Amino acid sequence: MINTELHKIGITDLAAGSSTGQQWFGHGPKITSYSPVDGQAIAVITASDARDYEKVLQTASQAKSIWADIPAPRRGEIVRQFGEKLRELKPALGKLVSYEMGKSYQEGLGEVQEMIDICDFAVGQSRQLYGFTIHSERPAHRMFEQYHPLGIVGIISAFNFPVAVWSWNAALALVCGNVIVWKGSEKTPLCAVACQKILADILQANQLPEGISSLLTGNAEVGKWLAADSRIPLISATGSTHMGRQVATTVAARLGRSLLELGGNNAIIVTPQADLKMTIMGAVFGAIGTAGQRCTSTRRLIVHEDIYEQVKTSLVEAYRQIKIGNPLEAEPHMGPLIDKAAVNAYSDALRKIEEEGGTFLVSGGVLAGHGFESGCYVKPVIAEVENHFKIVQTETFAPILYLIRYTGSVEEAIALQNDVPQGLSSAIMTTNLREAEYFLSHKGSDCGIANVNIGTSGAEIGGAFGGEKESGGGRESGSDSWKVYMRRQTNTINYSTSLPLAQGIKFNL
Ligand code: NAD
Repeated sequence: MINTELHKIGITDLAAGSSTGQQWFGHGPKITSYSPVDGQAIAVITASDARDYEKVLQTASQAKSIWADIPAPRRGEIVRQFGEKLRELKPALGKLVSYEMGKSYQEGLGEVQEMIDICDFAVGQSRQLYGFTIHSERPAHRMFEQYHPLGIVGIISAFNFPVAVWSWNAALALVCGNVIVWKGSEKTPLCAVACQKILADILQANQLPEGISSLLTGNAEVGKWLAADSRIPLISATGSTHMGRQVATTVAARLGRSLLELGGNNAIIVTPQADLKMTIMGAVFGAIGTAGQRCTSTRRLIVHEDIYEQVKTSLVEAYRQIKIGNPLEAEPHMGPLIDKAAVNAYSDALRKIEEEGGTFLVSGGVLAGHGFESGCYVKPVIAEVENHFKIVQTETFAPILYLIRYTGSVEEAIALQNDVPQGLSSAIMTTNLREAEYFLSHKGSDCGIANVNIGTSGAEIGGAFGGEKESGGGRESGSDSWKVYMRRQTNTINYSTSLPLAQGIKFNL
């Protein structure tokens, strides 16, 4: 199914899951990658064992000063070449993402476009790793701040954005002068192999040594090795809140830094003055896009009672038109979930909704028969619920949309929206300026992302991406997110002939 694409990317041997660049090796357990699209085994990849891990870390440790010695704009040039290669390979890599992860081909292409965008962003950033200068209180002194590379950046990523999330970290970490060690998701190992291969070939073409970009393959165990390793000053981890809690605890115990991008429970508030056509479009894409497997997927729709019935009717009508099927084909709006464990979590959630007193406006179910042989295709669901239900307070990574009614002012809707443990993305649909501004004020949304008249998903590369509360607190991608990949140093230079002390302290010998 994807042999031509793999060939274009330059993958001829699928056996090894550890790499320091041109060297590929693996001595751990075998991981079979199954496509949720058709249930076919795509590849068997040997995961990393402790020996492979050590080899990767030692090679990265040797490479880090070589890479950091290269001026930042020249590092940017390498990232530029990587972005160019991605442009060339966009259809092939996009198809691999779609086939291994199960998102639509359009979304697969979109993910590769995000990689290209962050490369472009990072190239510009490589000439803008600015510090401040500060006026000293002492005469003939100059103070300034500068940023230095950290060394090794460890990246742990989730299955749902199997290439983009790594690239957000990789492109910025590299221009900031760090070498990178990546453990991709065990559910999408081939996507990780492909990205590593593409970048490693660019590094080799520039006569750069092994260890600047490395790959590890494996499950949580390998991620735990990274988190515990004091040779890695920064761990950037994307995944569930459960994972983030464990990584944060381990990294904090060694006083390392972590950048956490975790689960969301994202809501759209729909006020009486919303544009309902845009609302329905935004809500449906947000809820069923990527089969509800985006960290920013719309989980809750908080709708004012005045328009509640109208929104309900339009939503049910829109859901009737949703086609489910092979995401590589143009027609279907929604493809499969990642695996059968995800299907079980979806079915569990439906049971809990019922147990807690929710009612289904659009009922769910697992699809079987022709075209659905993988067992990973489910129906999208809309349920009327109350915000305090335990199941509503949890992120279920599936196309389940909760409909919640509010009766009073926008403050009441915002209180409901904020009343969950997560704080990733949020949106308000309104044409009322006062409501929109209130939503964006400090009294409004408590999320890292707050949108007006667009949905909760589909962030652009230019803004800092991340969430509050159980969503982790980290920021990646645009704006000044690069700073997390560097260590900050404050410098004071005295060009006088005396040694005055700060705060006027006198000290004479
Ligand atoms: P997951 O937490 O199961 O796994 C994510 C990664 O962490 C995998 O590589 C896994 O092997 C590793 N891992 C798991 N436990 C670990 C541990 N204790 N120590 C070290 N590594 C460990 O998540 P998933 O099912 O792959 O992805 C879905 C989740 O990711 C959702 O909760 C989603 O919201 C979240 N996500 C968040 C963002 C964001 O930017 N906020 C982006 C994408 C996905």
